[in-house]
Amino acid sequence: MASQEGRTLALETLAVGAGYDPAEHGGSAKPPIYMTSTFVYASAAQAKAVHEAFFDGDVPERGGKNGFIYARLDHPNLVMAQTRIAALDRAEDSALFSSGMAAVSTLAMSLLRPGDSVMHSRPIYGGTDMLLHTHMNELGVTPFGFTDGVDEAHMTEVANAAMARGPLALIMVESPANPTCAIADIAMISRLADRIALTQRRRPIISVDNTFLGPFLQSPLEHGADLCITSLTKYAGGHSDFLGGSVSGSAAMVGRLKKLRTLFGCHADPHSCWMLLRSVETMSLRTERAGQNAQVIAAYLRDHPKVSRITYLGFLPEGTPARAVYDRQCGGPGSTFSFDVIGGEAEAFRFLDRLKLLRFAVSLGGTETLICHPATTTHYAVPEAARAEVHIGPATMRVSVGIENSGDLIADLAQALEAV
Ligand SMILES: *Cc1c(COP(=O)(O)O)cnc(C)c1O
Repeated sequence: MASQEGRTLALETLAVGAGYDPAEHGGSAKPPIYMTSTFVYASAAQAKAVHEAFFDGDVPERGGKNGFIYARLDHPNLVMAQTRIAALDRAEDSALFSSGMAAVSTLAMSLLRPGDSVMHSRPIYGGTDMLLHTHMNELGVTPFGFTDGVDEAHMTEVANAAMARGPLALIMVESPANPTCAIADIAMISRLADRIALTQRRRPIISVDNTFLGPFLQSPLEHGADLCITSLTKYAGGHSDFLGGSVSGSAAMVGRLKKLRTLFGCHADPHSCWMLLRSVETMSLRTERAGQNAQVIAAYLRDHPKVSRITYLGFLPEGTPARAVYDRQCGGPGSTFSFDVIGGEAEAFRFLDRLKLLRFAVSLGGTETLICHPATTTHYAVPEAARAEVHIGPATMRVSVGIENSGDLIADLAQALEAV
């Protein structure tokens, strides 16, 4: 239901209804949860037909039109949730996984072969970084990081180094990046992929991790990405009570991921799919409110004498290349950013330990405001020199602003900053 009578439905509408038709489920206004591991065939002929539909050809047939087989392959709640996420990502199809990292790992194992090289933005989510530099590297894949995704000359240089090592199969982009909010120019990277195709006779696949902004603020596929990755654990789940991940793109590419997902057994379970359907109904409201709060809090922190640096996307200076890309590619600055207090680890720790309302935890995108200290938590495993290169210092904090009252959040920040 991406459109109705010729009208393209808006994302807010799709978030509430796409993928679920009460008429197909006894009139139940909300989706039932199909808690079953296996499905009873109607007849021997139907059993054969459903296996043909799943296994013949490159990709499994979508949506259980011929019925279901076994929940690891496909199940009704998975079809509903995948249809809704595909609609939000403006994609042909989407594959849902048990976590964001299950999505990232399945994508990497599907697209990379021994001898290949892979390019990735730096910094990139810690799990993705570790996957590429340890496990994938042990399998014979060489990762090449790039630090400035809006600088075409830098990107070309890294691509040439990668191609000198082996075919460049995949460009993994995270934009905005965690926790620095560094932006990458997806359209420029798509043009780079076209040029790479002329050199190595194979176009690298471009994946963009859209976790930080989500579908209401950025649509990577519309800017030239082949695949859009999301940790649904964050803004889509939205309540810090659920783990999930998705990859959206063409039916052919997503279908191959679904086949591999069946072998890995890392699909999203019926209850998680149901929670996701419920959560994304309010995603546009949560995105809007958290965004308003973030704007107020970012302005407060920017003007505070004990804050030395802030990465809020709304403050990208006019006239810079990153600002131009942001204006073209993003619908808003989102609600996760970093800031530094004046001083070092001691000052940062005193500040964190005094907070009462803001909760000190990793993760982001929940209704509650979370804050963490990347150098000693999310980016603990990243060597200090590499952290410094991307401006993650001893006094850097990452904050994910929630939907509470912004005045209460500022009062808490104010009293804790007195300890710096
Ligand atoms: C959290 C996160 C992931 C991993 O998702 P999980 O659901 O925790 O496995 C991937 N990318 C980004 C940008 C994230 O923030």
